[in-house]
Amino acid sequence: MFLSLLSAVHLGCIHAGWLCSSDCEASELLKRFQRGMAMVMRMMSGSSYSARPFARLCAVVDARAQFSTAAVSSVTTTTVSKSVTLPVGHGNVVAHASGRMTDTTGANGDPTFLESVDIYFDKAAAIAATTPDILAQIKACNNILKVQFPLKCANGTVELIEAYRAQHSHHRLPVKGGIRMAPNVDADETMALAALMTFKCAVVDVPFGGAKGGIKIDPTKYSANEKEAIIRRYTSELVRKNFIGPSIDVPAPDYGTGPQEMAWIKDTFEHLQPNDINGSACVTGKPLEEGGIDGRQEATGLGVYFCLREFLNDEALVAKLGLTTGIKGKTFIVQGFGNVGRHTIDSIYGAGGKIIAIAEVDGGLVAECEDGIDIPGLKAYYKKKGTITGYPGAKTVKFAQGILELPCDVLIPAALETQIHSGNAGNIKAKIVAEAANGPVTPLAETMLEDNDVVILPDLLLNAGGVTVSYFEWLKNLNHIHFGRMSRRMEERGKTALIDALENQFGNGHRFSDEVRSQVVKGNTEVDFVWSGLEETMLLSWENVKRTSQGRNCNYRTAAYLIAIERIATCYRVSGIFP
Ligand code: NAD
Repeated sequence: MFLSLLSAVHLGCIHAGWLCSSDCEASELLKRFQRGMAMVMRMMSGSSYSARPFARLCAVVDARAQFSTAAVSSVTTTTVSKSVTLPVGHGNVVAHASGRMTDTTGANGDPTFLESVDIYFDKAAAIAATTPDILAQIKACNNILKVQFPLKCANGTVELIEAYRAQHSHHRLPVKGGIRMAPNVDADETMALAALMTFKCAVVDVPFGGAKGGIKIDPTKYSANEKEAIIRRYTSELVRKNFIGPSIDVPAPDYGTGPQEMAWIKDTFEHLQPNDINGSACVTGKPLEEGGIDGRQEATGLGVYFCLREFLNDEALVAKLGLTTGIKGKTFIVQGFGNVGRHTIDSIYGAGGKIIAIAEVDGGLVAECEDGIDIPGLKAYYKKKGTITGYPGAKTVKFAQGILELPCDVLIPAALETQIHSGNAGNIKAKIVAEAANGPVTPLAETMLEDNDVVILPDLLLNAGGVTVSYFEWLKNLNHIHFGRMSRRMEERGKTALIDALENQFGNGHRFSDEVRSQVVKGNTEVDFVWSGLEETMLLSWENVKRTSQGRNCNYRTAAYLIAIERIATCYRVSGIFP
């Protein structure tokens, strides 16, 4: 108990910034300390902390409690003001009502995103089989780079651009993690995301350390030429500071970036480092024609689907939630129709799941029929209009944040961090929250959800498909050959010989049909290798997380952190400390 209190005080100090900053006003420090202590005490008191009274206190005073498909139309037109009272140590705050909850600064009294990652880490660290000195090493962010550079805008003005790259852990090299473009990017968010990358790679046994980059802009406000200039200058800053390279640090797409940005990074790197024969491996998520890998675009969403499928096919686990097995017929709500959200939706829809609502920044869609939203129709509409709102096959609602609170079997946040927080967790009616985004559930929200018997499938595992396939792309670039090039025809010849032998031996004159023959004989293409490797990785990792959760009596998130911490600790122990 004494030790717990001591570490609570220690965490409270960290929360107050005592160990990392000295220029805070005293009163602000005190306030932050009180808030940190209150938060830590709640987190540490575990079962003795009842989330229910807190959930009641946080109960949002608006129509959301009655928010159901039937009530959607009334909610659409209402501007709701939500007053949320929080327990001692948090003061009174007013929660967001705009439908956009992208705050990472600890609004609603929740810890910030970075604090949340630390809290989740500490929870697992408390039961991890390693020593405090190793734990401190694993937890710390090794490097954080901040750069500021000018952009000559199309209208002739010059704007200062702020950007970051955090390298959380070098226990394996290169370090790896996406680059984000969003207006709320800052050092803390970048460090939180980099830490998640370290743990994620360890969970799925991808041999990289963790990193993340962020450029503080709203990409929708810049022309393609301006974005190209920003990305190229950012890359050149990384090159100058030795923060990028196939054996050093390998970025990838994240929120607000995609294959085009990765192509500009590769091109810039190769111009600046022309003697590096492995230059194309300096970044992953590239277009196919620029050394990308077939299947990377879909990889994160497909990985989410594989894990969900495994969970939902586990009779014992779903029975506890009062569900039958299988994806078919289950209801799903997805927040975010970007890269991850769209491909997750595709796979679920393809397996017979019903997508009953989708939330986006400019509004959301709620299905009007039993079967859910027609996804091929929506995708065609989105391609034409660039938005999901107004799609005639479903009801458009303006208050997209309320969509998260509709009843469903599985809620999939696939947008940004801290979307499910102490202000709305009590209203979530899903049985499963599947974290396709990074850090979408705050620790307070996690406690409240679990108190309501909601199962959380954690980001560390669920969205690790992206980095897994990025690993395959990196290997492909280092090998300078695409998967299947040397083996496909040979495989086909071998299988043709086998079919011929079967027909000659046992066919009695009968022949396989051309269709069957070509199906059996077909050799593996690159995407076959990639998705098979992805499925293998996700299944093995899920099994490991499930087993660890059962064996160590903890939730799936803590189990994933435990696996990561113990794997990284082994690496430190075996490799020793330099010098
Ligand atoms: P993206 O930019 O392609 O799409 C994100 C979508 O979310 C956008 O359409 C945006 O409009 C929407 N959005 C933003 N705020 C929203 C809100 N409050 N409500 C509803 N919708 C909102 O980004 P992405 O690559 O799909 O990444 C999404 C999440 O997944 C991020 O947390 C990212 O870190 C994580 N992730 C991405 C990858 C990857 O391979 N791209 C891999 C692992 C994790």
